[in-house]
Amino acid sequence: NFNNNWAHVDQYITDLLVPSDPVLEETLEANKAAGLPAIDVAPNQGKLLHLLAQIKGARRILEIGTLGGYSTIWFARALPPDGHLISLELDPFHAEIAQSNIARANLLEKVEIRVGNALDSLAQLAKEKTEPFDIIFIDADKPNNPYYFEWALKLSRCGSLIIADNVVRKGSVIDESSTDPSVQGVRRFMEMLADEPRVSATAIQTVGSKGYDGFAIALVID
Ligand code: SAM
Repeated sequence: NFNNNWAHVDQYITDLLVPSDPVLEETLEANKAAGLPAIDVAPNQGKLLHLLAQIKGARRILEIGTLGGYSTIWFARALPPDGHLISLELDPFHAEIAQSNIARANLLEKVEIRVGNALDSLAQLAKEKTEPFDIIFIDADKPNNPYYFEWALKLSRCGSLIIADNVVRKGSVIDESSTDPSVQGVRRFMEMLADEPRVSATAIQTVGSKGYDGFAIALVID
């Protein structure tokens, strides 16, 4: 039940407020040419991530799920000169395409892509006693969202922002008997947000060029 008007309004918003940018457009073209699925955030959502990073004054960002680096570039462009973004990606081919897109965007100095299962990379980051992140963006395999949230809490500090994409899933998030592991992963994650005293959270439903979905945002308050 995709509504064509959603895409048209997204186009209207994007034309007005998200000025056309050759690097971002070439990124989407390179992803398409490489056969990557078009499951990156929409341009106006990328701009929202960028604005959130600016509002937060983020210096360190962790992204779980790189794909071709589209959201990575939006985030990394909001970083100050000494800022750093680590993005975790399971698929070496996705990481390779992302790396070349990030090179084209002139962001190699700020962005580090770590290839492997994000659960292993997160454990490794903790082992390295990495500095806490200001923003953690959860956008990989949804069944693992509960574990990603646990790691996000460990790798954050009071004031960190945890953002998770695709938490509405065309509305199926309210189907408690769903047999879809992604729905169950998101449901468990939402319950953890509710139960975790260290965060204050909400979720917003969205419609647009990517269909009907939504994102959750949690501020670490302790
Ligand atoms: N954040 C990207 C953007 O908006 O441009 C989109 C990310 S896409 C929705 C999800 C990515 O997570 C895919 O590239 C997929 O290969 C990766 N992924 C899936 N399972 C993973 C895992 N266990 N560890 C790390 N990455 C994983």
